[in-house]
Amino acid sequence: MSGDRQPRSVIRFENWVFVPDQEPDAEPITYAMQCAVCEEQSAAGLDYTEGQAWALRHSGRNPSHHTYRELVTRPWRCWMRGY
Ligand SMILES: [Zn+2]
Repeated sequence: MSGDRQPRSVIRFENWVFVPDQEPDAEPITYAMQCAVCEEQSAAGLDYTEGQAWALRHSGRNPSHHTYRELVTRPWRCWMRGY
């Protein structure tokens, strides 16, 4: 069909609020580093510098592994507005 600007399955999001969870009981934000060469990864922790230290040690042991991904786990929450 031409001129079809709407997605085929429409979910009605307008009554939902979706935000990073900053409530006191929210799960913590955690950080880890993953080697992009061999996929090995550090433990997830609250301190992002631990992952960076792990990456430097990992490159020290594996001198050809130079690229990493930072894995950030951030809690979010949603709720239905109103009613
Ligand atoms: Zn590696």
